[in-house]
Amino acid sequence: MNKSGPASSRDGADQDQFLTILSREEALARFEAALFPRELAVEERALSDALGLALASDVVAAMDVPPFDRSNVDGFAVRSADLEAAGEASPVHLRLNDETIACGTAPELPVVQGSATPIATGGPIPRGADAVVMIEHTQPLRNDAIEIRRAVSPGQFVSYAGSDIARGEILLRAGTLVGSREIGMLAASGIARVLVTKKPRVAIISTGDELVQPGLPLRPAAIYDTNGAIVAAAVSENGGDAVFLGAFPDEEDRLEAVMREALATSDMLLLSGGTSKGEGDVSHRIVARLGKPGIVAHGVALKPGKPLCLAVCDGKPVVILPGFPTSAMFTFHDMIVPVLRRLAGLPPRNDARVTAKVPVRIASELGRTEFVMVSLVEGDEGLIAYPSGKGSGAITSFAQADGFLKIDALADQMPAGTDTEVMLFTPHVRVPDLVIVGSHCTGLDVVTAPLARAGLSVRSISVGSLGGLAAARRGECDLAPIHLFDEKTDTYNTPFLVPGLELVPGYRRMQGIVFRAGDERFEGLSAEDAVRAALKDPSCLMVNRNQGAGTRILIDRLLDGVKPDGYWNQPRSHNAVAAALAQKRADWGMTIAPVARAAGLGFIPFAEEHYDFALVTARKPRPAVRAFLDSLTSPETRAALERAGFRPA
Ligand code: AMP
Ligand code: MG
Repeated sequence: MNKSGPASSRDGADQDQFLTILSREEALARFEAALFPRELAVEERALSDALGLALASDVVAAMDVPPFDRSNVDGFAVRSADLEAAGEASPVHLRLNDETIACGTAPELPVVQGSATPIATGGPIPRGADAVVMIEHTQPLRNDAIEIRRAVSPGQFVSYAGSDIARGEILLRAGTLVGSREIGMLAASGIARVLVTKKPRVAIISTGDELVQPGLPLRPAAIYDTNGAIVAAAVSENGGDAVFLGAFPDEEDRLEAVMREALATSDMLLLSGGTSKGEGDVSHRIVARLGKPGIVAHGVALKPGKPLCLAVCDGKPVVILPGFPTSAMFTFHDMIVPVLRRLAGLPPRNDARVTAKVPVRIASELGRTEFVMVSLVEGDEGLIAYPSGKGSGAITSFAQADGFLKIDALADQMPAGTDTEVMLFTPHVRVPDLVIVGSHCTGLDVVTAPLARAGLSVRSISVGSLGGLAAARRGECDLAPIHLFDEKTDTYNTPFLVPGLELVPGYRRMQGIVFRAGDERFEGLSAEDAVRAALKDPSCLMVNRNQGAGTRILIDRLLDGVKPDGYWNQPRSHNAVAAALAQKRADWGMTIAPVARAAGLGFIPFAEEHYDFALVTARKPRPAVRAFLDSLTSPETRAALERAGFRPA
C-alpha cells in the first residue's frame, strides 16, 4: 500500500481535474471527443452466431421474396376471366390439367382457357393462371374436371414475387441489433453470413475493502458487492461482452496490476468505488497513469454521482463509477451507455425512454443535474412517474423502480404536473394491475399474495398515510392504506375520507413497547410502567420514530413531554426500530407486534391501531381491485394475517 508517498506526487494533474467540477454536458462532450470518431472492429459471422450483435453495414436484398408468384391456399390455379359468369344458378366447369403443383414443384403445363391446375399452398402459379380457387369452393366432376359456383377476382390467393422483400431494397440497416426476426429475414433472402460489429469486451472491477461476493458469508461491517453484478448485467444488456473480474481491496499496487492486465485484454474498463478524494480511494490515481490522454473529467455536477471519473487511456475508455449502487446505475445509464452502444455499433437507446407526468413537486439542488428514481403507474391520462428514491445508498429503491428522470442543473425544482422523460432500466414498461400508495405494512404482502399467484402485478409505493390519501384523491392509485387517528372524534381513518373515496376495513395492528427479551428492566411491566422504568435508568437508551408517523404520536403520548437519551434517533420504519434493539444500539422503542415477534424481541402491548384502505370508488370495478377485496375478506387471508400477528377487522 502506498497511500500518499509516490502516488500523490504523480497525481497532481488528476487532483486539479477533481477540483474542477464539470457540468454533465461538458464531461460527456470531453469524453466523447477523446473517443470518437473511431473505426469499429467488424467481423463476418454466420447467421447462427450473429444473434445479439449489431449489423456493421446495410444488407441489401439480392433477390425477391417470395421468388415467384405463389398460392396462399390449397385449391386450383385458374384464369379469373373463365369464372366471370359463375354463380349459384350458373356453375362453370373447368377441365383439370394433367399435373399437380406441390410445394417445390415447378409447373410445366400452362393453364389455358377453360382449364385449371390443382395447386398446394406455397406452390408456384403456372403460366396463364391469375388466381386460385380454394378447394372448399369447388365440386369434383368425374376425376378430370371441377365445378365452380362463384366468380374470383384477379390475384385472389396469390402472393406476388417480391411482395415480402423486393430485390434491391435495403433489408436491414447498419446498427440493427440482430434478433430472431432479423435472422428470419436474412435466411428468407438466402443470406448466410453478415458483417457485424465486434462486441466490445468490457472488464469490470469493484473496489473497496468492505466488499464480499454474494454467496460468501458476510463478516462484520462488510457488505455484498452489488455493483459487480449489476454493472456486468447492464453492460450485457447494452451490447458489451462483460467480463467481471471481482472485487479488490483499496491496495494501490495490487489494484494497479489488476487494472493494467484488464485494460490490456479488453476494450473498456469499468470500475466502481474509490473515486472520492478519501484517504483510501486509490483507483483514480491509478487511472491517471494508465495511458494518454488520461482523465478527462473527475467530478461532475450530478446528484447523486458527483465523484464520477471519466478517462481515455491509449484510446480505451476507462470509467470509475461512484460506489453507491444507485449512483453507479444513474451515471452508467445516463453517461456510459451512450458511449458503450456507439462502441458496439448500436444506435442510441430510444426504446428505453417514455414520457410520464410527475404528480408531486420535486425539489432539486441548483447547479447539479439531479437523477430521481421513479415508479411508473397508469393514470387516467397516461403514465405517472412517482419519485421513489431513498437517498443514493438505497439499493432497495430498485425493487419498485422502473427507471429515473433527470432534473436540469439550472432548475431548482420540477413542478407537480410536469411531463418529463423517464429513462427505463429495461426497455419495457411494466404497468402494474393494482397500485397501492400510502402507509406500508408487512401485512399487505399477506393480502396481495393471492393476486401474485393469479398473475396480477401489484405495485405498492410507500409515502405514508397522508401522502396516500392525496394520491387517491388525484386518482393515481386504486387503494391508499391509512392509519390516522382523529382526536376529536376518537376514531380511526373515517374522518379523513373525501367524496370519491370509501373506507374498506383492513386489520388491527398492536403497537407496543419493544425491548430485548430477558431485559429485567421491562419484563412483566405495563407499557406505562415500562416507560417510567426506562426514564429512571440514565443508562437506558431509547429509539424514537420520525415526526408524522402514527407510532410517534403514541410514543409522545407515553413520554408526556420528556425527551430521554436516544429521543433524536428517529428512524422511519418499524424494522429500523427492531434492528436498533437487536443490535444493542438502543434498549427500548415502539413498534408493531408482528415486527417485534419476527425480530425475536420482547413486546408489551399498548394500543391497537386500525390499518384500513381508502378505496378510490371509481376504480372498484377493476379486476385487480376486486381480487384484492376478495383476498382481504377470504378465510385464508384472514388466517394468514392472524398467524403473522395481525387481527383482521
Ligand atoms: P466509495 O466511493 O468507495 O467511497 O463508496 C461509496 C459507498 O458505496 C460506500 O458506502 C461503499 O461501501 C459503497 N460501495 C462501493 N462499492 C460498492 C459495491 N461494489 N457494491 C455495493 N456498495 C458499494
Ligand atoms: Mg470504497
